[in-house]
Amino acid sequence: MNVKMDGKMKTIIEPFRIKSVETLKQTTLEERKKYLTQAGLNTFLISSENVLIDLLTDSGTGAMSTEQWAAVMRGDESYAGSPSFYRFEKAVQDITGHNEVIPTHQGRACERILFTTLAKKGDFVVSNMLFDTTRANAQAAGCQVKDIPCPELASPMTPADFKGNIDLEKLESFLKENSEKTSFVVSTITNNSGGGQPVSMANLKATRELCTRYKVPLMIDACRFAENAIFIKRREKGYEDKTPTQIAREVFDLADVISISAKKDGMANMGGILAMKNPQWAQDCRNNLILTEGFPTYGGLSGRDLEAIAVGLYEALDEAYLNYRIRTAQYMGDQLMKADIPIVNPPGGHAIYIDAKGFLPHIPPQQFPGQSLVANLYQLAGIRAVEIGSVMFGSLDQSGAEVPHSQELVRLAFPRRTYTQAHFDYVIEALIELRKTSKSMKGVRFTYRPEVLRHFTARFEWVD
Ligand SMILES: *Cc1c(COP(=O)(O)O)cnc(C)c1O
Repeated sequence: MNVKMDGKMKTIIEPFRIKSVETLKQTTLEERKKYLTQAGLNTFLISSENVLIDLLTDSGTGAMSTEQWAAVMRGDESYAGSPSFYRFEKAVQDITGHNEVIPTHQGRACERILFTTLAKKGDFVVSNMLFDTTRANAQAAGCQVKDIPCPELASPMTPADFKGNIDLEKLESFLKENSEKTSFVVSTITNNSGGGQPVSMANLKATRELCTRYKVPLMIDACRFAENAIFIKRREKGYEDKTPTQIAREVFDLADVISISAKKDGMANMGGILAMKNPQWAQDCRNNLILTEGFPTYGGLSGRDLEAIAVGLYEALDEAYLNYRIRTAQYMGDQLMKADIPIVNPPGGHAIYIDAKGFLPHIPPQQFPGQSLVANLYQLAGIRAVEIGSVMFGSLDQSGAEVPHSQELVRLAFPRRTYTQAHFDYVIEALIELRKTSKSMKGVRFTYRPEVLRHFTARFEWVD
C-alpha cells in the first residue's frame, strides 16, 4: 500500500536500510528461566542485554537516522545562545506555528513547568485522558483532574476510527458549570493511556470552539502528533489529500499551548518541547524552567540533543515512514486477531494491547493474568512487554486485599525504526505458541509489594 512507485506493490517495506547494527544476544530457555527467577518474575528487573526483542516502551528507544547523527556532530554546547538552540527553535516554529519555543529534558518537565506556572491551585484540568505524568504534574500543582473520554473507548474490542476523542457533550456541560475553575482543557494525541487511539480533527476543532466560548486555554499533549496526523489522513473525510505536515499544522493551530516528548515523535532518545503563542506566559515559564532545566536555550539538553530533535521532527512527518509505522501495528493486530488472540481493536499507532483476561480466563485478577503473560512471553521467546492492569493500577482495600483494576492489558510498544518485519513475525509466532499452552499457565502472587508505582520494583512467584 505504501510503496509510492505506482501503487501496485502491496508489500509494506521498512522505508530505510540499515547502516549500523546492534547484535541481539541469544539466550537459552534455561537462561531465561534463571533471569526471570532472579528478577522475581518482573521483566523491569531483567538486564536489557538479556532481552531479545524489547517492546517495553516506544519512549526514547528508537533508532536515529544518519541525518540525525550528522546533526549530532554539529551540536554546539555553548551554555547560552547556542546555534543548536536556534536550529531547534526554527524547526519547532516551522512545524507547529507556535512562536515561543522552550526546550526541556523530557515531556514531564514541560508539564511541571506549565502547570506550576499557569494552572491555579484548586482548579480543574479536563482531558480526553491525561497520561500518568501529566496527571501527576497537574495534581502536584494542586489541580483536580478529570478524564472524559468518548464512550467508544469503553469497548476495547469494538473498532471505531477515533476512540481517542473527548466526549464533547460532557465537556460542554462541565465547562458550563466549571469554566471559571478550569485552568486547562487537554487533548492528548494520540491517547496513550487509552491504547494509542487517535483524536479526529473534528473533535479537536469542536474542543477548540468550546475552549474559546468558555475562555479556557487548550493544551495539546502532542507527543504523537505525527501518528495522529496519519490516522486523520487515512480515516477522516476531507484529509485524504493533505500531507501529514499540513494536518499536524492544522492541529497545532488550534492549541494555545503544546507539549511534546521528543522521545516519541521527536524521533530522539531524549528531550521535550513546550511551545505556545502567548509571550507573557512563555516568559513566566522560562523563569520557572531555570529552577530545574538550566538555561532557556538548552532546557536540560545538550546542544547535540537539540540538533537531533530539530531533524527528527521532520522525519516523523515523512509519509512513507508513517505508513510503515501504523501498518506495522495493523499487521501485527491482524495476525493476532486471526489467531484468536484478543487485542484492543483497532490497534493504535505505537503499540498492541493484548487483553490478558481474554488470553488467560482461568487466572483470576488477584493472580495478575497480565503479569503472568508478560513473564511467560519472556520465558518462551525473550520478548519484553509490560503489564497494564492490576499490578500497575490495583490497590488494597482496608483489609489489605487486592482491589483489581478494570482491565488486564499487556502492552507491546514499538520502538521507532528499530525492528524489522521478521522481528514482528517472531513476536506473532511466540504469542500464537503461548496461546496453545495458555491453559497450563499459572498466575503469580507478590513476594514484594511496593506501596506506590508497584510495577517497577515488585517481585512475584508462581502460584501453584
Ligand atoms: C511519554 C508521554 C509523556 C511524558 O513524556 P516523557 O518524555 O516520558 O517525560 C506525556 N504525555 C504522553 C501522552 C506521553 O506519551
